[in-house]
Amino acid sequence: MNISHIEHIGIAVLNLNEAISFYEEKLGLKCYCIEEVKDQKVKTAFFLVGQTKIELLESTEPDGPIGKFIEKKGQGIHHIAFAVNMIENVLPELENNGIQLIDKLPRKGAEGLDIAFLHPKSTHGVLMEICEEKK
Ligand code: ZN
Repeated sequence: MNISHIEHIGIAVLNLNEAISFYEEKLGLKCYCIEEVKDQKVKTAFFLVGQTKIELLESTEPDGPIGKFIEKKGQGIHHIAFAVNMIENVLPELENNGIQLIDKLPRKGAEGLDIAFLHPKSTHGVLMEICEEKK
């Protein structure tokens, strides 16, 4: 597999609007997109830092993945996303190498990316996402 760059870093926050204010007013970044991803029960906000994005994630339901994460661990870094080519070939390759996949097939994430998550049990404790922008 060929990772080209870190596409984004996902950060779980309790309150999206408050977090956006922090990133804009204190860090001087500009939020360029807010999007709800219904099947993940999240609202997301994006900031561009070089070619890497910061993706803030607020749960829209307490039982969503981000709601559960915050309940267990509190706010903080949730996942790191690597950009790859040919994600549909990368997933079976990873699985053949003994990596536990959360998503066996790519699905649609925010910004129309094809995404899939790798289980932190097989990645030394980091929830990893691999993603690809399909034109
Ligand atoms: Zn992500």
